[in-house]
Amino acid sequence: MLVKNPVKKYLFTPGPTPVPPEVLLELARPMIHHRTPEFSAALDQARERMRPLFGTRQEVILLAASGTGAMEAAVTNLLGPGEHAVYVNGGKFGERWGKLLAAHGMAGHEIRVDWGRAARPERVEEALGANPNARAVLMQASETSTCAVHPVAEIAAVTQARGVMLIVDGITSVGVFEQKMDEWGVDALVTGSQKALMLPPGLAMVALSERALERAQRSRSPRYYFDLVRELKAQRDEHTTAWTAAVSLVLGLNKSLEMIHGEGLPQVFARHRVMAEATRAAAPALGLGLLAPDNPAPGVTGILTPPGLDGSKLVRYMRDELGVSVQGGQDQMKGKLVRIGHMGYLSPFDMLIAVAALETALAHLGHRFERGAGVAAAARRIAERA
Ligand SMILES: *Cc1c(COP(=O)(O)O)cnc(C)c1O
Repeated sequence: MLVKNPVKKYLFTPGPTPVPPEVLLELARPMIHHRTPEFSAALDQARERMRPLFGTRQEVILLAASGTGAMEAAVTNLLGPGEHAVYVNGGKFGERWGKLLAAHGMAGHEIRVDWGRAARPERVEEALGANPNARAVLMQASETSTCAVHPVAEIAAVTQARGVMLIVDGITSVGVFEQKMDEWGVDALVTGSQKALMLPPGLAMVALSERALERAQRSRSPRYYFDLVRELKAQRDEHTTAWTAAVSLVLGLNKSLEMIHGEGLPQVFARHRVMAEATRAAAPALGLGLLAPDNPAPGVTGILTPPGLDGSKLVRYMRDELGVSVQGGQDQMKGKLVRIGHMGYLSPFDMLIAVAALETALAHLGHRFERGAGVAAAARRIAERA
């Protein structure tokens, strides 16, 4: 077979994502100390450059952690032990909010959403009605495990009207599509470095509303490393991090944000839209369905694998034989789903590679379809949007 295990690899997982050469070079620079004017300048600039991605005038706080660290920081800084919160569970990451709440002795009231569906604001209204002592609603802007988006703005209208905080996991949303944290009334928005921000894993970011910051100052939850009040004071007032910074990642972030703003945020969002549309267009052309056809995420597309075909085998074949990494499904979607990420340092034309590899693997595993139809559909969509 001609394409077997090529040296060139492609990464289309919904995190980590490819890192541009410009950022890799920045990461390779000799180490500097984190209590220096040089580091402070980069930290200040990176935090400033993050604000438009969050849609906020508030301070963006950087943490040396994966995205889950920022989720945990939001929970422990804004809620106390024994307090109640409502959380949207529409997949693995929504489920994580429930686990975090439980781990910290908080009472989580779950809104279960079928995989691939969007959370409905009426359900949030209902849940808050049934749990009037809930202090916060926790949700994903984009649920990466099901490739679905949730309507943050509409749910924020509900939480605002009730004076309840809204905590949003924007880990596959920030830098992918527009976030209007201040305008919508989001109290905490978190993200991580390895999705749309074109960096390796290891940095997390969180911004708090004024109301959330006041809560953080009063929270009774035990915390030390993830004390956002202390961290904010260090970053805003002393221009350094409370603990040793992930120095190279901060320098890399500053570079990737320079690239993002160089392209222009509206263009970055449009590019992600086209990548998503092109990838989605391939599915029906291959006789396949989408997991979230009505509310698909702009950062990752979930294509259902044909019945009787082992989706895990498909993903393994793509990675090991074709050099193209995508991700399979989790839990009830294990073996039934292919998730193709399109976040960060990718172009719409890259998606033709992902679809071509998917076609090659489908054909190898015996799925019957018109060869080339997926690539043609994706290419047509790109050309239409040009
Ligand atoms: C990737 C991801 C996370 C998890 O972040 P880690 O960096 O693995 O801790 C959380 N939420 C969503 C929606 C994600 O896509």
